[in-house]
Amino acid sequence: MQAMQLQGIGGPLQWVELPERHPGPGEIRVRVAACGVCRTDLHVLDGELPDIPLPIIPGHEVVGRIDALGPGVDGLRIGERVGLPWLGHTCGVCPYCVGHRENLCDRPLFTGYTRDGGFATSAIADARFAFPLGELGSDEALAPLLCAGLIGWRSLVLAGQAKHLGLYGFGAAAHILAQVAAWQGRTVYAFTRPGDTASQAFARSLGAAWAGGSDEPPAQALDAAIIFAAVGALVPAALQAVRKGGRVVCAGIHMSDIPSFPYRLLWQERQLLSVANLTRQDGIDFLSLAPQVGLRTHTTAYPLTRANEALADLRAGRFDGAAVLLP
Ligand SMILES: [Zn+2]
Ligand SMILES: [Zn+2]
Repeated sequence: MQAMQLQGIGGPLQWVELPERHPGPGEIRVRVAACGVCRTDLHVLDGELPDIPLPIIPGHEVVGRIDALGPGVDGLRIGERVGLPWLGHTCGVCPYCVGHRENLCDRPLFTGYTRDGGFATSAIADARFAFPLGELGSDEALAPLLCAGLIGWRSLVLAGQAKHLGLYGFGAAAHILAQVAAWQGRTVYAFTRPGDTASQAFARSLGAAWAGGSDEPPAQALDAAIIFAAVGALVPAALQAVRKGGRVVCAGIHMSDIPSFPYRLLWQERQLLSVANLTRQDGIDFLSLAPQVGLRTHTTAYPLTRANEALADLRAGRFDGAAVLLP
């Protein structure tokens, strides 16, 4: 198999030739057809997440077909199209797993972070964490759903019954969530980097009722806001934009430091919380909803060998929507 592998913090990814591995008990091998590029991949490259086991193959928005089954795998077949998400394994016995909060498992493995991911022609996965995807939609269009869509969905659920919903950072996740939220009948307010009129127009084209810079007040006090950008300064900005009793959800795995802010921004029962990872139930819920919404993902395809270029373009904000690597 061939892969783009991170050998040292700070990158770049190196093109490597690795022996094809056979799936072990409970595992499947997936021939990768597409793998989305996520901001979390940048956090891995930059060493902003703890305990990265090097070398590692990034990529946790994997779409492909099963080409080998390990012993003891039930309910999946050779040739079936599946998606591999960020959550790659949980222990099943810790208090969080037992309490239906496996996203917070004490001993998890994450695809493309603590176990090899999908920037490769082939990937080995724990079969219990693979989602059957059916045959509807292209591999490239589905890939961004596996993290941007799923973590975005969990964030939306935690945002509660907000009618007026703000999305800070209009990248891969927000471009999917804006469509879901508009379909649900919510009014979406999209906040981009100040002056980024192209992203603001993109947000309006996907159903946002208002789009502006993150330094602008929305036309209406928000019931909730989700922050997708990894910028701590957006936390007080979002708290300022939500009404009494409103909620601010931080959806990223890493964020720059949050500047200090006056208590009055939190006062009056405003809530601030973070979203971590996903549960398999989140995946089942979201992937069954996606076809009903008629989601359109906006993707920019790169050959797998150009993964470093895709990551650089993501970092610089050079495309709208999501980048997808094709082996
Ligand atoms: Zn991700
Ligand atoms: Zn656990």
